[in-house]
Amino acid sequence: ANETLDYESVHKKSAKRFTHKEYLLMGAGPTNITDRVLKALSMQCLNPISADMYEIMDQAKAMLQYVFQTKNRFTLIHQTSGNGGNEAILLNLLNRGDKVVIAIGGTWGEKVLDMAQRYELDVLPLRKPPGEVYSLKELEEAVKSHKARLLFVTHGESTGGTLQQLEGLAPVCHKYGCLLAVDAVVSIAVDPLFVDRWEIDAVNAGTQKAIGAPPGMCLLTFSPRAEKRMREQKKRPPYYLDLLPQGVYFDCFDGESRTYHYTFSANMLSAVREALAQICEEGLIPMWQRHKSNAEYFWKRLDEIGLTSFVEKRENRFHGVTCVNVPQGIDQMDFLRYVKQKFEIEITPGHGPTLNKAMRIGFLGDNSRPEIVDFVIEALKDGLQHFGK
Ligand code: PMP
Repeated sequence: ANETLDYESVHKKSAKRFTHKEYLLMGAGPTNITDRVLKALSMQCLNPISADMYEIMDQAKAMLQYVFQTKNRFTLIHQTSGNGGNEAILLNLLNRGDKVVIAIGGTWGEKVLDMAQRYELDVLPLRKPPGEVYSLKELEEAVKSHKARLLFVTHGESTGGTLQQLEGLAPVCHKYGCLLAVDAVVSIAVDPLFVDRWEIDAVNAGTQKAIGAPPGMCLLTFSPRAEKRMREQKKRPPYYLDLLPQGVYFDCFDGESRTYHYTFSANMLSAVREALAQICEEGLIPMWQRHKSNAEYFWKRLDEIGLTSFVEKRENRFHGVTCVNVPQGIDQMDFLRYVKQKFEIEITPGHGPTLNKAMRIGFLGDNSRPEIVDFVIEALKDGLQHFGK
């Protein structure tokens, strides 16, 4: 009766030592993290309701407000990845049957649409031809005609390679009683984002892109308007995604003493704090400029080796991830396998709008450097020669 399955019978091969190779991660994220962040991750665990933990949380939150360019008190970190952050925004700001406009630019917007449909929201999805972005007028028309309570927009689209302009959009939404929510999972710290100046109501950012931490957390901020909306919701969101108690845990609200919502990972939080500290030391403006200049340098060098960008109009291109057309006659997966084996560079294949058309090459965070652009170009050039182009 006390028999157990022995390990060898479950696992055909017994693993004596677990190892894997390290790659230069040049896809749409995760990106490589610095030794400093790696070290911060490998700390001893902490009691999630201890003064030590609260100190890390307070420090991370203050730096996050800087990165978001916001004074929003309701600025916090939640333990789920980018998609989970988008889902939390929807479920905390809307109830079943509420009207929402989703401006889709690729896979991420499609996923938000899927979430909205699962929760039976009244959705108006908008779509654009690949490489195109929305004008303020188009978004205003949609918000107005659908009488939307929320407009959901993706800032940087890592599957289509576009950057949606946001300046001026929130005041237009507010005219119609609509809030503006933004997926900045991949655009954070790459292209300018001014949460307060642009009056954005809800923003979700990823940890595993230019922020330079591992995946698994999402960075969130909510305007006073959005906080009010959340408090007035008729129905509470699902327990784990309920952001108000997580906001209490993050000491966002005056007079409410910190309480536990779920066990928050001190290790991940410590890594995020260290990654945010790197950004604060470099400064946001230099960081935005670095991503822009290295992306432009990459586009110039692509031109030299005869490769083209999937997004034709330069003004629509996102500076974090460039979608590069795969020349006719080359199998994308074979090409990427070759580059990975020979150069230990990981590039992500197309997805959504770029599926089977373009590969996605990201210069994010610490990997946004001219010498890395040159190395990637050398690998692409070698790949083209190998496949006879
Ligand atoms: N939105 C955008 C713009 C993204 O780039 C990603 C991740 N590539 C996501 C959402 C989803 O994030 P995650 O995979 O961390 O859930």
